[in-house]
Amino acid sequence: MDLQQILPVESAERLAQIRQDFPILARRIGDRPLAYLDNGATSQKPVAVLQAMDDYYRRHNANVHRGVHTLSEEATAQYENARLRVARFINAPSEKQIIFTRGTTEGINLVAQTWGRANLGPGDEVLITEMEHHSNIVPWQILRDQLGFTLRYIPITDEGLLDLDQLSNLLNERTRLVSFIHVSNVLGTVNPVDRLVAAARSVGARVLLDGAQSVPHMPVDVQALDVDFLVFSGHKMCGPTGIGVLYARRELLEEMPPYQGGGDMIREVKMTASKWNSIPYKFEAGTPAIAEAIGLGAAVDYLSQVGMAWIHAHEQALVQYAYSRLSEIEGIHILGPGPEQRSGLIAFTVENIHPHDLSAILDREGVAVRAGHHCAQPIHDRYGIAASARASFYLYNTPEEVDQLAQGLEKAVEIFA
Ligand code: PLP
Repeated sequence: MDLQQILPVESAERLAQIRQDFPILARRIGDRPLAYLDNGATSQKPVAVLQAMDDYYRRHNANVHRGVHTLSEEATAQYENARLRVARFINAPSEKQIIFTRGTTEGINLVAQTWGRANLGPGDEVLITEMEHHSNIVPWQILRDQLGFTLRYIPITDEGLLDLDQLSNLLNERTRLVSFIHVSNVLGTVNPVDRLVAAARSVGARVLLDGAQSVPHMPVDVQALDVDFLVFSGHKMCGPTGIGVLYARRELLEEMPPYQGGGDMIREVKMTASKWNSIPYKFEAGTPAIAEAIGLGAAVDYLSQVGMAWIHAHEQALVQYAYSRLSEIEGIHILGPGPEQRSGLIAFTVENIHPHDLSAILDREGVAVRAGHHCAQPIHDRYGIAASARASFYLYNTPEEVDQLAQGLEKAVEIFA
């Protein structure tokens, strides 16, 4: 296929500029140029993020919300400004509804341990799906074993979509929460949030959306989606590790008990009892990840400047090209729906070659993909496989890198023939 058919000239020029912003993309692996296609696991960081964190440590480093000195005031201003920028990025009504966490996993655990403990008990039900990441399964299993509610799963079809025909059998007036993945990190499926939210509302259930694979890749507006909770990770969206976000409806945050106890989350501590700070601080005990939050603020600025609509369209072009290119590989089996219904990632198996071997051979070609169960064992069980390989794209990936992946796979097939 002619590369110009995949990316219009204007986009190709933009892409070349974007790549300049990511120093790591100039690396070589052995004698091959790096093709970083493991963005579902974590993304690379632009200079703007590296500089924001470096500048914080060089010029402003101090603890936040504590000292009455210049550095502490500057650090606090930068930290809180990052919260504001994240709120705007997802169109949250207020920055007070943005809780900084360590990532998606901690966000879900926070909801389970605070809202869940206060609202779930025997006879109640929580509905999740068979396509969840482990971080949206295990916290509910742990809590179920402690509180005695029932955990139900929406099954997946052979094609890799949620089997929504089952919804009416799975939802009932005892369902308190519907918690699901927006974009599957294995199947690439983009789930119909509106349908699931409407179904949850019809029985009075709350909705938690795992946005780990959607917020970095497409415009996400929490008010339009009308979810109660949204969680995502900074490191998958050009920000650093160790920082993530829980957005929640204000009235829920006001009602929910604190997550962890310690400094910053209190208003007053007496030896007999303590009073909690207002939101969002009630949920941020201890010294937070200050530089990381500032890095995330720079990351959302960077993504907004490129444009989330452009990023989404770019990944769609890449995934469609990758789908057609990979479909030609002998013995390949692509997991999940067709290219029109998926986000920018492709997980696959190749007959008679273990995904780890595929990944090792691709690495020799400079191509970084992930191999394993991608923290989603139930999906792999559903399709009767132990593992898969996954190529996941981001704003800086190119059609040439898709070719590098396809050529690497062709080599692997030859080696194992
Ligand atoms: N949910 C989904 C859909 C993911 O893809 C991931 C990460 O791979 C997570 C949750 C967990 O994210 P983190 O490890 O950043 O907490």
